[in-house]
Amino acid sequence: MEIAIVGAGIVGIATAYELACDGHQVTVYEQRSAAAEEASFASSGLLAPALLIPWASPAVGAAPRRWLWNPKPSIRMARGAGRAESAWLRRWRKAAHAPTAAGTMLALEQLGRYSLARTRQLVTQFDVDIETSHGALVLLRHAKDIEKVRPAPDVLREAGSQIAEVDADTARLIEPGLSTDVPFAGALHAGDGEAANCRLFAQVLRYAAQELGARFVFNAQVDAISTQPAGVQLHGESSLRRADAVVLCAGMASAALLKRHRLDLPMAAVYGYTISAPLREELHAPQGTVIDPVHHITIARQGQRVRVSGGAELGYAGGEHHADTLQKLYLALSGWFPGGALISSPQVQTWRGARPTMPDGAPVVGTSGLPGLWLNTGHGACGWALACGCARVLADRIGGGAGAVDLDPFHIHRF
Ligand SMILES: Cc1cc2nc3c(=O)[nH]c(=O)nc-3n(C[C@H](O)[C@H](O)[C@H](O)COP(=O)(O)OP(=O)(O)OC[C@H]3O[C@@H](n4cnc5c(N)ncnc54)[C@H](O)[C@@H]3O)c2cc1C
Repeated sequence: MEIAIVGAGIVGIATAYELACDGHQVTVYEQRSAAAEEASFASSGLLAPALLIPWASPAVGAAPRRWLWNPKPSIRMARGAGRAESAWLRRWRKAAHAPTAAGTMLALEQLGRYSLARTRQLVTQFDVDIETSHGALVLLRHAKDIEKVRPAPDVLREAGSQIAEVDADTARLIEPGLSTDVPFAGALHAGDGEAANCRLFAQVLRYAAQELGARFVFNAQVDAISTQPAGVQLHGESSLRRADAVVLCAGMASAALLKRHRLDLPMAAVYGYTISAPLREELHAPQGTVIDPVHHITIARQGQRVRVSGGAELGYAGGEHHADTLQKLYLALSGWFPGGALISSPQVQTWRGARPTMPDGAPVVGTSGLPGLWLNTGHGACGWALACGCARVLADRIGGGAGAVDLDPFHIHRF
């Protein structure tokens, strides 16, 4: 089949790769001049599905069994947030109490696990170094935090994760750079947790897709998607570029492109920040990923850099960075890993990106219900962790197969 893909973020590129693997003729249309320039640019890099789910899902605080995160995930209303954002926030909070919430979380876990396996398989196949670091520690500051999270390790283990409770001394053996000045009671250790450079992998995968015959057309903004006949209308062109099928992978722009088809995609941009600083001293830097669950901060090693991330805000704020959030990230980095990174270096990169988030924290993957139009979007806080799995299952579906993961929980008509 001839297949048009809208968007060359990690999700669109992974989709292009899998479809090209299956022998389809793929063309990717991207409005920017390069791949992975928007949400996939500088994410935290976490690939550990179980550790991301509590981050992604509003069900966290309301789950019958307590999860390890702060029960009130803090979303800040930034300048520019209006009624639409407030309404979305209400929906997001409400989703936590929906009877389907626990099922959605388990479905995400299953998809995440499948995706991680596919990502690892591709990394091995291409024999590339994508700055992968291994292991993740969730730090618990007080003894009562350990009690609070007591059922969480069992729940995560039941779902297939390797999660162990470790005391502070063991945690320091795993992460020798952790400051001795900041006391903590213990940690949860996910030995199978992983972080890696999403943008780097997106570039590798783009070239791999090209080798299989996929075409990437940059500076090509899709103004409209057509279903009968299927195709895309590019900005500045009068005729439709026909295809047998279109896959929408346009991240935050997806909702607008579906509007004319009367499909409602209740997606919000949940902005977050990452700061990437060059490594200063190997022994003082994180070896893998360290998560501070109370402040929703992740510190991860990415090759010769350390990346700290956090913040969740609704509202564009004119693109302005929120100084307090950035300050918090710097403090976390220098507090937990003093001397680990060159935080005053001119090479420090600060980034604000939008997580394209659905009210229940799960993506929209599968058929749109309209002929020839498929969806792979709304991956929120887990787009990197889910991209390769979603792409493989969607390619199977487009090819008429069942796919290894049930996509029903990710159908657009669940809203
Ligand atoms: C601070 C932060 C930390 C994060 N940490 C993690 C993490 O640790 N692990 C994880 O799994 N995920 C993480 N994420 C989430 C992850 O980055 C996103 O879910 C993922 O990048 C989404 O990928 P995407 O391809 O759907 O969207 P994008 O990367 O935004 O790609 C969409 C593409 O579509 C293009 N496009 C849009 N409209 C059009 C149009 N009309 N015509 C042509 N092209 C168009 C855009 O230019 C863009 O290139 C994080 C996100 C943020 C902001």
